[in-house]
Amino acid sequence: MFRRLIESPSAYFAAAAVLLLIIVALQFDLRIPSRPGGTVRDLALLRNRGDLNVVFILVDTLRADRMSLYGYGRPTTPVIDDLANHGVIFERVIAQSSWTKTSMASLWTGTYPAAHGVLRFDNAIPREALMPAEIFKAAGYRTVGIWRNGWVAPNFGFGQGFDVYYTPKAGADAQLQRHSPGAASIGGTDEDVFVAARDFLDSFGQEKFFLYLHLMDLHQYVFDDDADDFGPTYSDAYDKSIDWTDRVIGALVDALDAADVLPRTLIAIASDHGEAFLEHGREGHAYDLYREVVEVPFLIIPPLILDRGVRVEQTVANVDVWPTLLDLVGLPPLPGADGRSMLPLVLAAGETPATPAPADLARPVVSHLDQHWGGRGEAREWVSLTDGDSRLIVRAGRPDSAEFYDWSRDPREATNRSAENPPQLQPMLERIDRYRRDSEPPWGVESPTIEIDELRLNQLRALGYRVGS
Ligand SMILES: [Zn+2]
Repeated sequence: MFRRLIESPSAYFAAAAVLLLIIVALQFDLRIPSRPGGTVRDLALLRNRGDLNVVFILVDTLRADRMSLYGYGRPTTPVIDDLANHGVIFERVIAQSSWTKTSMASLWTGTYPAAHGVLRFDNAIPREALMPAEIFKAAGYRTVGIWRNGWVAPNFGFGQGFDVYYTPKAGADAQLQRHSPGAASIGGTDEDVFVAARDFLDSFGQEKFFLYLHLMDLHQYVFDDDADDFGPTYSDAYDKSIDWTDRVIGALVDALDAADVLPRTLIAIASDHGEAFLEHGREGHAYDLYREVVEVPFLIIPPLILDRGVRVEQTVANVDVWPTLLDLVGLPPLPGADGRSMLPLVLAAGETPATPAPADLARPVVSHLDQHWGGRGEAREWVSLTDGDSRLIVRAGRPDSAEFYDWSRDPREATNRSAENPPQLQPMLERIDRYRRDSEPPWGVESPTIEIDELRLNQLRALGYRVGS
């Protein structure tokens, strides 16, 4: 048999083809895909497998419209594009705040800010709240969180359910030259997160795990010297930093591949808020609720390569992220969440032709910020409602402050049309009133206020904010 194969000319051609493939692969550093192919229907079956790891990558401060896969003109995210184009892309995703802590409390608990009440620098998520990591832990997962943003520190309640929850040691010898123009340093880079994640995979990669990686270099505008030179402004540096972050994510996926776990690992990429570049007079985030600071990505990279990637057009919210992911992997839902599993939308969008999405999943989405979050004085709350292309932003209790925008005509929210008194205006105002009046924490306990010592306050101030005065 073996001899006959050797003598067969087709075997020679086959061998030559394999050799050529290997040479090409070595030359261009190509990887033979290590995940099996599949269709969108296979996504609905993932929940039955019981062997899936979940890697949740939170890229702090990533605004969706600066990523090439969301239509940006610069090639900022080639690695993510490639992965997500064979996975699931949610095209319009609204974060529940423009400040990390309020936004992350919503993302993790699946509840809106008026329900969880984590609005101030000294508020924390109470122990009574059930967090996704607790659900993973109860299901037998090893749970690890690696983070570099002090607003998700364990004293604010974000470590609940994690076996290990820590900031990695800052690397002493960065391999690459980087800069952080105009940003205070918080020490280290996301390369440290990558190293910590790789070490974790070396030790525990063969157990079932839930790994949360909170990347922070984009918040600090860290970039790699040999990144594309997009130009000299902060906005250009931000784009360069997205490119750098994209490479870090590429290295993480490579590490998962090297650990041989990609075929049983679901990866999700999300963000807590965007970043402003003077669109509405401000730079940065955590000041207001305009589109540039609340529209973020949500991407799912399943353990199989979809023959046709799925794009979900309908608006979803960060409160939907965990209800969706828990549903996908077959774990219990977050009790009392405002968010919903968007898996039915994914499955509907993946049909050919796309079938209509379930109507009850189309609903307006709230964002909410206390502009005085860093202080101890009176609240100054802003709430926005995004309903299809209609957008209302209003100071709480001040209907005269309402700003109405129509994204279909004005995607950058340049023209406030509230004086035209559009028919959506009054119902949207009433909906925001109901939201503020009727929201309650599903776990029955108000968000506690905690003591923060000066040392920790200074660490938070190093992120570039005024806090505690
Ligand atoms: Zn943030």
